[in-house]
Amino acid sequence: MSYVISPGPAAEECPVLIAGGSLVGMTTAMLLAQHGVKPLVVERHRSTAIHPRAALILQRSMEILREAGIEEAVRRQSIEQFDPDGALVSVETLAGEVIAEHIPNLNEGVRDVSPSLRTFVTQIALEPTVCRRAEDLGAEMCLGTEMVDFEQDEEGVTALLRQRDDGEERTVRASYLVAADGPKSPVRERLGIAMRGRPVFSRAVTIYFRADVEELLRGRNLSVIMVNNPKLRGFFRIEKPYRSGFLVVHTLGDPDDPVTDIWPDRGERGWIELVQSALGSEEVEVAIEDVMRWEAVAQVAERFQDGRVFLAGDAAHTMPPYGGYGGNVGIQDAHNLAWKLAMVLDGTAGPELLATYDPERRPVAEFTAEQAYSRYVTRAAPDLAAGGMEPIVSDLNIDLGYRYPSPGVMADGGDGPVHEDPRESHGRPGTRAPHVWLERDGQRLSTLDLFGRGFTLLAGPDGAGWVDAGREGTERLGLNIAAHLVGTDGDLTDPGDAFAEAYAIEPSGAVIVRPDGFVGWRAAAGPASHETVREVLSTLLARQTRARS
Ligand SMILES: Cc1cc2nc3c(=O)[nH]c(=O)nc-3n(C[C@H](O)[C@H](O)[C@H](O)COP(=O)(O)OP(=O)(O)OC[C@H]3O[C@@H](n4cnc5c(N)ncnc54)[C@H](O)[C@@H]3O)c2cc1C
Repeated sequence: MSYVISPGPAAEECPVLIAGGSLVGMTTAMLLAQHGVKPLVVERHRSTAIHPRAALILQRSMEILREAGIEEAVRRQSIEQFDPDGALVSVETLAGEVIAEHIPNLNEGVRDVSPSLRTFVTQIALEPTVCRRAEDLGAEMCLGTEMVDFEQDEEGVTALLRQRDDGEERTVRASYLVAADGPKSPVRERLGIAMRGRPVFSRAVTIYFRADVEELLRGRNLSVIMVNNPKLRGFFRIEKPYRSGFLVVHTLGDPDDPVTDIWPDRGERGWIELVQSALGSEEVEVAIEDVMRWEAVAQVAERFQDGRVFLAGDAAHTMPPYGGYGGNVGIQDAHNLAWKLAMVLDGTAGPELLATYDPERRPVAEFTAEQAYSRYVTRAAPDLAAGGMEPIVSDLNIDLGYRYPSPGVMADGGDGPVHEDPRESHGRPGTRAPHVWLERDGQRLSTLDLFGRGFTLLAGPDGAGWVDAGREGTERLGLNIAAHLVGTDGDLTDPGDAFAEAYAIEPSGAVIVRPDGFVGWRAAAGPASHETVREVLSTLLARQTRARS
């Protein structure tokens, strides 16, 4: 990325160029396309993922995939690959004792907070589904194409693309560039954005193997199997029908003074011995399919935005796969960014809305990267504990309880913690709008099914005035927001009488939820005011300086 490029008169144009078409790039494309923006994605590889990598897709990500219309398809793929609700355990070896049960059943105790379930599905299955959906919605995918250079100016970004097969080059002009180009992000490096946090603590390997391990599983339903013994620390993931899987190895030898560089080649026999050692059996025949080398770090970019360029996914934050957060946090980045780009591009929102991406997503990434590190230390690298780590917070709070303290929401009182139990957030502005089962025309739907396209106003049973204000009062802003009365006389009924309590409002109160399902504003009670709704929306859309709350 070195030479100066000029857009030239023949430059192809697109609203958003996405560099990197793996999990996060494709999710960004799908969500942008859902908002009516047709992005161009360029991916150096000639196909979607060929290695499984991420498999634990947490509830927030599943909610996002639900919104995009592919939750069911992904659940079906999951069942082909894994039994639902498997446990996360630590073992001495697969044949040996269980040392700790981290999560005995993947969805135990979390089914009430979401219409979606934690799901196990590998990137090999997930990426093509996301890719197809993105294309169906109008995104353009260019696989086997590299972005070799880019420049930005006040009006947009100019990028030079090169096809890998024939070396053909073309220039693209976009209003915005999303860098979803992975942990080594050439875009981030080019912009001189540093990574902060914990540098390489393991030069890890993922050993892909074939072996019949059904007998060693002994009928147990195990999603992730951490291996922790005096010889090695790492984890297995084994897919149905239990004839193949991978072993990640992070450290070898004395747990108090381990070898952390597993990269040097051991030859096929050496890799087989590592797998057999973690299996706890030399009897099982093992064939090695591939060995991937990668660096375990817990680092976050010092900023997620540079002018018209946004970092997302591993380009913005890289964390060890303990807790299964890396890909999930990237999917959340995409979801946070897509509606903002769409609304700024079509003039609904002011450009300052885009400046809320960094203050909303970076603290979440920093917190989550540290939590992944704490899990890594606790489960795989006790020798690092002396160096300090954050206390472990519940997985549910990390996944669904993050809060955005930003100008993109209108806080109504005490700021509170950045992460909390999603059952305790009660629709506080800046938190994910709680899930409540409602009914429309006798059909059950989640509050979350109401979000995703534009802004949504939800009023309590005595809040008809707010609905009027939402439906009519926003016309002057040229906005069309969905407004619903929740209660006996409303278009949505609340059979469990749970809505007002879940959102901590009186029957005459209301909330406005952003397109990403985060509460932007809340009125605990009436009286309703058209002017307030207009001011709130202007503020949430960065159309004017902050309005009165
Ligand atoms: C063993 C393992 C297990 C994991 N398990 C989980 C899990 O259970 N749950 C979870 O959430 N996460 C997990 N992760 C992490 C997860 O895999 C990553 O966070 C996720 O893949 C990041 O996606 P990404 O799209 O941001 O980056 P990447 O997957 O790194 O993709 C970046 C893409 O950009 C392309 N690219 C780079 N530069 C250019 C360019 N100039 N032009 C065109 N293309 C370019 C690359 O070819 C690449 O395909 C795991 C990781 C590992 C290693």
